Amino acid sequence: MAIATVNPATGETVRTFDALGADDIERCLAEAARAFGSYRTTGFAERTALLGRAADLLEADNEDIARTMTVEMGKPLAAARAEAAKCVKAMRWYADHAEALLGDERPADADVRDSGASAVRTLYRPLGVVLAVMPWNFPLWQVMRFAAPALMAGNVGLLKHASNVPQTAVYLGELFERAGYPRGCFQTLLIGSGAVESVLRDPRVVAATLTGSEPAGRAVASVAGDEVKKTVLELGGSDPFVVMPSADLDKAVKTAVTARVQNNGQSCIAAKRFIVHTDVYDAFAERFAAAMAALRVGDPLQESTEVGPLATEQGRADLEELVEDAVRGGASVLCGGRRPPGQERGWFYEPTVLAGISADMRIDQEETFGPVATLYRVASLDEAVERANHTPFGLSSNVWTRDDAEVERFVRDLEAGGIFFNGMTASHPALPFGGVKRSGYGRELSGHGIREFCNVTTVWQA
Ligand code: NAP
Repeated sequence: MAIATVNPATGETVRTFDALGADDIERCLAEAARAFGSYRTTGFAERTALLGRAADLLEADNEDIARTMTVEMGKPLAAARAEAAKCVKAMRWYADHAEALLGDERPADADVRDSGASAVRTLYRPLGVVLAVMPWNFPLWQVMRFAAPALMAGNVGLLKHASNVPQTAVYLGELFERAGYPRGCFQTLLIGSGAVESVLRDPRVVAATLTGSEPAGRAVASVAGDEVKKTVLELGGSDPFVVMPSADLDKAVKTAVTARVQNNGQSCIAAKRFIVHTDVYDAFAERFAAAMAALRVGDPLQESTEVGPLATEQGRADLEELVEDAVRGGASVLCGGRRPPGQERGWFYEPTVLAGISADMRIDQEETFGPVATLYRVASLDEAVERANHTPFGLSSNVWTRDDAEVERFVRDLEAGGIFFNGMTASHPALPFGGVKRSGYGRELSGHGIREFCNVTTVWQA
């Protein structure tokens, strides 16, 4: 895949970039290793000041970087602005909280008396140079939720961003430089996916985090496993959105639409499978399909647009194949199911609702990365739980119910890294984020996220 900005709303190539050569990559690795040698010894006050400055710069750049993201991957401009603002919030949160999150731990004397120590403590020391392989769908946020905690913990970062968001990638490298970080603390490597393996095998790189698809996660984790290097994987999702009879149907329908089409449907934590109790199924299906059909699809730079194009031509082709396969298998199309008529340019697809999904359709088990929802009718709580878990993924989940006993049952049994009741899944700096099953492992954000790339060190003194 060429490293280039191709506007998904028009299909036009805006700008192309040369990939770094071997000498450039070597220079970046050497700089990263050198930077870690001194940055690891900085105190929290210095790190806080640096990240705070980077947050201020990003806040001032909001409109410009939002437009860049929209041109590179097609998200509506308002969503791009919100993404940049969310990054600023997370940066400030980590700047304020990292010291407390990584404070030394001292066990109770009674617990360690028999260890023979006069003093024992556990420290969270930085690990070193961490490679971040990142996707295009939230081109700032995915990077920042790694970078902010990693830098606050004293690590340094190398970013291999998705090949279709190079301007955002370059912006990120420059942002940290402009904020005054020592040279080499955070660098963007403009490289294709084929160059990732050699960077990861380099002894100066000690760990990797990847957000992206399952095949990419498997490839990176295999190499890291071979090298015995720590990884965090944030992969795909097919989150259930369960609606039980006691749900507030107005709110559930409204939220279902947002939860499905956020980021033009290309979010790992978008609700994708809508599992509705038979008592409210017909009412939900009718209103949900009507609301999806009413969304304004168009140029993401227009303020009134609610759903922009898919980010890549291939992404739209993959989505179309999934829908066609389902329709061939007997699924009914409640709305959408096609490109917007008359829209010649760009990779647009109409918000779509499919019902009558069966086990032999690919869409039943695969992730729909675009504005396509599948509807399932269930007759009981047991069936709702079983259907929600009937997926290889386990990222997050949404449940609409006002019944406390049902809440407890879902909390006990849903196989997911998050369970959101009567609202939609969203990440927050103070809450751990991540999945189980094929959605990956490890956590980002909160104290859990910042400790992923730490050397948890026991210090025992006689
Ligand atoms: P992708 O194709 O896997 O790309 C993600 C990153 O991995 C890109 O930088 C890509 O580089 C690189 N990559 C791809 N194949 C690789 C390989 N074999 N070795 C090393 N690096 C490789 O994913 P995407 O299409 O950009 O993103 C969509 C997927 O990400 C969806 O499945 C979505 O659910 C998931 N996602 C998960 C989360 C989460 O937090 N769990 C968040 C967002 C997205 P190139 O661009 O150069 O190919």
